[in-house]
Amino acid sequence: ASNNKFFVGGNWKCNGTKDSITKLVSDLNNAKLEADVDVVVSPPFVYIDQVKNLLTDRIEISAQNSWVGKGGAFTGEISVEQLKDIGCKWVILGHSERRHVIGEDDQFIGKKAAYALSESVGVIACIGEKLEEREAGKTFDVCFKQLKAFADAVPSWENIVVAYEPVWAIGTGKVATPLQAQEVHAAVRDWLKTNVSADVASATRIIYGGSVNGGNCAELAKQEDIDGFLVGGASLKGPEFATIVNSVT
Ligand code: PEP
Repeated sequence: ASNNKFFVGGNWKCNGTKDSITKLVSDLNNAKLEADVDVVVSPPFVYIDQVKNLLTDRIEISAQNSWVGKGGAFTGEISVEQLKDIGCKWVILGHSERRHVIGEDDQFIGKKAAYALSESVGVIACIGEKLEEREAGKTFDVCFKQLKAFADAVPSWENIVVAYEPVWAIGTGKVATPLQAQEVHAAVRDWLKTNVSADVASATRIIYGGSVNGGNCAELAKQEDIDGFLVGGASLKGPEFATIVNSVT
């Protein structure tokens, strides 16, 4: 980890019921969490209000998506204003499932990021290569292109956390090795230094996501440029998520 405050997000994706989420929130409320870590959970939209009402204020809430502009006649969408209204401080944008399953492109994601930031909602900006892109030696190209789309769209990096999430590692149980992750994190920091500014490069948290669990988090957390985690599957288990939060070094 760098000198930046560790940041751990739990992405619950499209999982849970009122009952299972009540249990998860109660486990999180009872967990001992290291003080010097920003902790965020991202429930499905329909449960955000329930979570906000029951969860300790120690943990902030993120949405998993947001509409690209002001709300209105956009059937099925959720606006940033509405997310703020129910207590969301963050939104995850550019997640690989939205890029590759739903089909969102770089420009659309960049616009969403700019809009969320304009409303003072922080952005967890996800980037990452597919397996065939890694095998073709294109990891940096893909990550830098996705990063550039964010950089071109946003006015400031103050409220952005970058999540490096190799697509081949998400939900597969195939975690990147600490060195594989560190290599990309260092390259992302370097890209920010060259293309944005040295200050932004050193102050921006770059977190890793992709099959992080209670067993592999400690080794990853030791890497110089890994400033935290975005956790999918393992964030659905309160005690294991707490272990990941507490892997801060
Ligand atoms: C994610 O969806 O952001 C993620 C990292 O998932 P998992 O931890 O399940 O691989």
